[in-house]
Amino acid sequence: MKKIESGKNYTRYALGTLAVVALRDGYVDLPTNRLRQSGDRDFGAELPPQVQLVGGKLRLSVNAFLVIDNSEHVLIDTGAANSWEPTMGLLPDALAEAGIDRNLITTVALTHTHEDHAHGLVAADDSDSFPELARLYVPQEEIQLFDGNERVARFRGRRTPFLDGQQIGPNITARAAHGHEVGHTAYEVSSAGETVFIWGDIVHVPSIQFARPEVTWGFDTNQDQAGATRLRMLNHVARFGHHVAGAHLDFPGVGAVAKRGDGFSFQPA
Ligand SMILES: [Zn+2]
Repeated sequence: MKKIESGKNYTRYALGTLAVVALRDGYVDLPTNRLRQSGDRDFGAELPPQVQLVGGKLRLSVNAFLVIDNSEHVLIDTGAANSWEPTMGLLPDALAEAGIDRNLITTVALTHTHEDHAHGLVAADDSDSFPELARLYVPQEEIQLFDGNERVARFRGRRTPFLDGQQIGPNITARAAHGHEVGHTAYEVSSAGETVFIWGDIVHVPSIQFARPEVTWGFDTNQDQAGATRLRMLNHVARFGHHVAGAHLDFPGVGAVAKRGDGFSFQPA
C-alpha cells in the first residue's frame, strides 16, 4: 500500500488498482478506566508508560475509510457527525479537502452500529450526508440495534443485511470479527496481490493493545470474544503481510503489523 497524497484530514493510498482514502472524523478523549485487564480489572496506577494521556485521558482518533474501485465509491463507516463530542464530525470537511463529492458515495458499509461509525449517515443539519446513497450494508447480527436507533430511523427500509464472507463489492469481502459488538465486521479489500483489512474497532488504544492484545476495552459488548478476535486478526495480518486500517488507530490509521515478542507491533504506512 503506497501513500499518494495527504492533507490535514485525509490521506490517499493506492492498493493495487484501487484507491483507499483515510478520512479523519476527529477524536474523542475517554477515561483510562475504559482499558480493562484480565478479570475486568482497571489499570489504576499501573498503566504502562508508553500510553500517552491528554489531560489525564486516552485520546482515540475517529477515522473512516473510502474505497474507490473504478467509479464505485464505498464508504466504510461514517463518523459521529454532531451526535457525540464536538471534537468529531469532520468527515464532510475531510471529503471536501480530498476533492471527493459526497454525491459520488452510493454505498456505505458499517463495521458496526455504534454512533461514531453510523451516526454520520445523518449530517449535523439533519439532511442525508450522502444524498445518492443506494446501498447501506449493516451486519445481520446488528439489524435490530440499527433499527432501534432513532438517529438513523430514515434508513430502516433501506439497509441491506449481510453475513460473514459476503462480497459487498468486486474487491471487498465482509469478515466477521465479532466481540466489540455482536456483528462487528472487518472488510478485506484486495487488488493486484495487495490486501488491507479495514477492521473497525479491533484496536482502540494502539499504544498498548498491539503489544498486549489481551487488554480489552470497556465498550466491548463481549470483552473475552473481542480479545480472541483481536488476537486472531493480528496473527492473520502479520502472517500474510496484509495492511490494516483502523477506526481508532492514530490518524490516518493505516499500516502493517508484525509479530514482536509475545505481542505485535504496528508500523504506519
Ligand atoms: Zn468505535
